[in-house]
Amino acid sequence: PKYTECTGFEADEVIGQSPEMLSRNYMSDEQYDALWQTAMSGNNWRGELYSVRKDGTMFWSLVSLSPIKNEFNEISHFVLVLEDVSELKDAHARMEQLALFDELTTLANRRQFLSRMNRVTSDLPRYGHGAVMMLDLDLFKNINDTQGHQVGDELLKTVAVRLLHCIKETDLAARLGGDEFALLINPIHGEDDVIKVAERVLASLAQPFFIGETEIQVTTSIGIAMIPKDGAEPDTLLKHADLAMYQAKEMGRHQYRFFTETLHEQLQQYIRFTREMPIALENKEFELFFQPQVNLKTGDVFGAEALIRWHHPELGVVPPMQFISVAEETGFIVPLGRWIVTAACEFLSKVRQAGWPKFRLAINLSARQFRDPELIDMFEQVLGNFDIDPSCLEIEVTETLVMHDVQKAISTLQSLQALGITVAIDDFGVGYSSFSYLKTLPINVLKVDREFVKDIPDHTDDMEITAAIISMAHRLQLKVVAEGVETAEQEGFLQSHQCDFGQGYFYSKPMSEADFKAFLRTSTAQDTAEEAC
Ligand code: C2E
Ligand code: CA
Ligand code: CA
Repeated sequence: PKYTECTGFEADEVIGQSPEMLSRNYMSDEQYDALWQTAMSGNNWRGELYSVRKDGTMFWSLVSLSPIKNEFNEISHFVLVLEDVSELKDAHARMEQLALFDELTTLANRRQFLSRMNRVTSDLPRYGHGAVMMLDLDLFKNINDTQGHQVGDELLKTVAVRLLHCIKETDLAARLGGDEFALLINPIHGEDDVIKVAERVLASLAQPFFIGETEIQVTTSIGIAMIPKDGAEPDTLLKHADLAMYQAKEMGRHQYRFFTETLHEQLQQYIRFTREMPIALENKEFELFFQPQVNLKTGDVFGAEALIRWHHPELGVVPPMQFISVAEETGFIVPLGRWIVTAACEFLSKVRQAGWPKFRLAINLSARQFRDPELIDMFEQVLGNFDIDPSCLEIEVTETLVMHDVQKAISTLQSLQALGITVAIDDFGVGYSSFSYLKTLPINVLKVDREFVKDIPDHTDDMEITAAIISMAHRLQLKVVAEGVETAEQEGFLQSHQCDFGQGYFYSKPMSEADFKAFLRTSTAQDTAEEAC
C-alpha cells in the first residue's frame, strides 16, 4: 500500500516488472553502472534517484539496494527500500538557494562567489588562470533616491540578466551587496579575454533600461584583479579589484581599470598612514607652513594660507596631497583639523602680538570636516582659547564640497560667519563654477584656481575666463585671490583686471613659521597690513 501511495502504481501493475521502471530513464549511465557494480559485488548501494510516478510527476527518492545471498553464497535477490525525500530535497534546495544565492537577482551571493574563487585559487593547475571583476553602477544611489527602491530593485535585476549574457557558462556572476556586482572569469588565456568581457559589460549596461514607464541610463565602473598575478587568496583579489574599481571611478567613471603595483603601494601607504597618523599627531610631527597672500594694489603681504606638512621620521616631508585624503577617509581629519585650527589660532595670536593685529590666515577645510556635526562647536571652543579677532581666521572650502548639499552648506557657512570667521571658496573654476549658486552662498572671498592663472599669457581663453570671474565676483561683493601666481606677467595681468590678492611662488613658496616671520618683517609695513582684514 505504501508503494502505491508513493508511486501511484497498483500491485498488479508492477509485479513482474523491473524496479528500474521508476528511475532508469533519469539516471546517468555512470550512476547506473556504479549502482549495479556495487550491488553485484555483494555490497549495499545507497543513493538518491530522480523517479517518476504513474501520473508522470517526478519525485526524489532515497534508495537503498541490498543483495541477498542463497545457501551457495550467490546473489539471488535484491531488497530495495525506497523513500520519497522530495520535501527534504526541496527544503535543502531552498536553504542552498538562500545560503548561496542573492535573493533579489538570483545571481550567486558573496559567499558562493568567495567559495568558488577559493576553489580556483587553491587548484590553479586544474582551473587555470582567471580574473575577478568588481563592478558598481555609477550614481546608483541617485536613481534609488529619485525613482524609488522598487525601480532600483528592478534595475538591479535587469543588470543581473545582462551580466549573465556577457559571460560564459564557466564564469560566475554574483551580487555582493547593494549595487556591487562581481564576475569570476575562469579560465582565461590572457588579459585580452578579460578586456573583451569588460568591454562587453560596459557596452551592455550602457544601453538604456526600461523599468515600467521610466527609461534609465546608467554607467559602470569596473576594477579587475588577475588570478594569480594580483593575489593568491580570494580576499586579497577582491580587495585589489575593489581598489582598481575605485580608481576607475576616480578617473571619470564608465571604464575599467586593472589593478597595478602602484595601486598596491597606495594601499600599503594607506594602511601605513592610517596606523601612523594618530601617533604622528602625538609626536608633533605635523607642522603648518605659511604661504603669503599679497595685496595686488599695494604689494603688501596682508595674510597667508596655512598648508600642512608631515615630517615623517622615515619618509621625510610628506606632502598633504598624500595624507589628507587618507585622513579624510579614516575620519582622522577631524582630530587633525582641530589641531590645525588650534595651531592657526596660536600663529595668529603671535602675529598679532608682533604688531600685525589684522593679519588674516586661511585654513583649508575638507569635506569630512565640513560634515562633522561638532565643527561649529570646535571652532567656538578653540577661538575662545585665543584672544584674536575671528575675522582674521578664514576658512577655504571647495565648490565641489559646497555643491554636494547646498542647503546644508549654506547653514554651516552661515554658522561659521556668525562666529565672525571669513569664508572663501577654494579652487574656483574647476568644479561647478556656477555663479547663480554663488550668489546664494554666504561667502566673502573667491580663490581663482591655479589652472586659469598658469597659462597666462599663452591661453587667451583662460585669460578671458579669469577676467570674467574677477568682474563677476566683484559684482557679488566678493574679494578675489588668484592662486598659483608664478610670473610678473601673470601679476601684471591680474592687476590690470583689478584682482584683489595674489598667492603663488612669485611671492614665495609655503614657509615654516620662522621663515615666514622673517619674510614678513622684510616685506610689509605694519600699518598697511591693518587695511587688509
Ligand atoms: P590648495 O588648497 O589648492 O593649496 C595650494 C597648493 O598649491 C599648495 O600645495 C601650494 O603649495 C601650491 N602652490 C602655491 N603656489 C603655487 C604656485 O605658484 N605654483 C604651483 N605649482 N603650486 C603652488 P600643497 O601645500 O602641497 O597642498 C596641496 C593641497 O592639500 C591643498 O591644495 C589643500 O587642498 C590640501 N591641504 C594642504 N594643507 C591642508 C590642511 O591643513 N587641511 C586640509 N584639509 N587640506 C590641506
Ligand atoms: Ca586652499
Ligand atoms: Ca586652491
